[in-house]
Amino acid sequence: MKQRLRDTLSELMMIPGLSGHEDRVRRYLRARLDDLGIASRSDRLGNLIATIEGDPEAPSVMLFAHMDQLGFVVRKVEADGFLRVERLGGVPERALPSQAVLLCVGEGRDLPGVLANKSHHATTPEEKYRVVPYSELYIDIGLASADAVEAAGVRIGTPVIYRPQVIALADDRLAGTSVDDRAGCAAILELAGMLKEKQGLANLHLVFSVQEEFNLRGALPAAQVLQPDIAIQLDLILATDAPDMGGRGDVALGGGPAISLYSFHGRGTLNGVIPHPAMVRLFEETARAESLPLQRSAHIGALTDLSYVQHIGEGVASIDLGFPIRYSHSSLEVCDLNDLEGLVRLLAAALAQIDRNFSLDRDDHS
Ligand SMILES: [Zn+2]
Repeated sequence: MKQRLRDTLSELMMIPGLSGHEDRVRRYLRARLDDLGIASRSDRLGNLIATIEGDPEAPSVMLFAHMDQLGFVVRKVEADGFLRVERLGGVPERALPSQAVLLCVGEGRDLPGVLANKSHHATTPEEKYRVVPYSELYIDIGLASADAVEAAGVRIGTPVIYRPQVIALADDRLAGTSVDDRAGCAAILELAGMLKEKQGLANLHLVFSVQEEFNLRGALPAAQVLQPDIAIQLDLILATDAPDMGGRGDVALGGGPAISLYSFHGRGTLNGVIPHPAMVRLFEETARAESLPLQRSAHIGALTDLSYVQHIGEGVASIDLGFPIRYSHSSLEVCDLNDLEGLVRLLAAALAQIDRNFSLDRDDHS
């Protein structure tokens, strides 16, 4: 399973899919579902939805991960061919100069570029420790005039992403672009292959969602149509075992998958997820019974679509489940394939527990 996860994730990380431009990722995922004999459909926003039919009397489950990644869009083409960009998503400005980027003109026509870093020999002492805001940065694609840029297909609105890359680190760890959340997509694909034959489970809706990095609501239309009783989002959980993360928590890379007990944005958006107690109990008891590791996370500063999905209908029993990640939103995010494998095994075992007797009544869990 680990090798398959490595291959799938590596392929997914190499496919460009800026928020709102997820089509290439969706085509890949649809083809993989087709190979498994699982029918899928997409909605008007671009969400890819597949349903594995089960017991209609059991609470239905929507399991989802987002296909999109953060990046930029071209804001202005300068007369001398340099490009200015607008940011899309939580792009860390500290880590942008000197990055290789890809201008997504169209499949087979994409252009490489460089986010320029001012020549070191011309950098003043005051500039040396200053973070350059993205609005001052520019991209060099090697063309020297606005006309040449236009002829190459680059226009205002062209998507720009970190140049896709995958680096195999030691000990089953992968570094590269858009581990967030292609790792979640890879985990769902793996699980789909395991669950498609199993009967007696609840209706399981697999959703690969759009625009999470943009506005955290791309999965909403899918959830509104599916009206699930339970929603589980697979996405990153911040690993706190890097030297600069001390004190933030107890999540170790390689320590297994994790559940979030509390998330809140904390920067203006009054939203977050406090998971349903039945879901916390389900994953904790399953991990114990299967002798699988399960870590716990609680922190402010990050949200997922689940914050919005939980509020549809009469409320959805929700939980964020995920894989530890280091260096989130940088061009080189790091995850551990053992955590992904643990995540798939835990999910497969937990979903098998959701039958018609599975209660979401709050009073049964107080
Ligand atoms: Zn994410």
